[in-house]
Amino acid sequence: MKNKQQLGIAQIKRRRGIVFIIKDRCKGCGFCIEFCPSKVLQRSDDFNAQGYHYPIVVEEPPEKVCIACGFCSIICPEFAIYSKPLEDGEEA
Ligand code: SF4
Ligand code: SF4
Repeated sequence: MKNKQQLGIAQIKRRRGIVFIIKDRCKGCGFCIEFCPSKVLQRSDDFNAQGYHYPIVVEEPPEKVCIACGFCSIICPEFAIYSKPLEDGEEA
């Protein structure tokens, strides 16, 4: 049986990201939670200053982590969430 190198399979490192949530801008629409491809966001039980439930990050490494795809920031109508890719060795 051929090994991974013979098959030309390289190990690909998955990009990691860190999420920033400006909680008092959030209007609680839930778009970011629903459409995050990694499912790392969930609704907070707390209310923000406007009375909405804002998102929080619930990572469960190694499977459920932010991949810094940026989709949450594109879809948020309130510009209340964004992500940044982590550098090698940087912790979330
Ligand atoms: S950047 Fe992508 S993976 Fe990270 S929280 Fe936003 S939508 Fe989810
Ligand atoms: S998409 Fe924006 S406004 Fe909607 S829940 Fe997420 S952070 Fe809040």
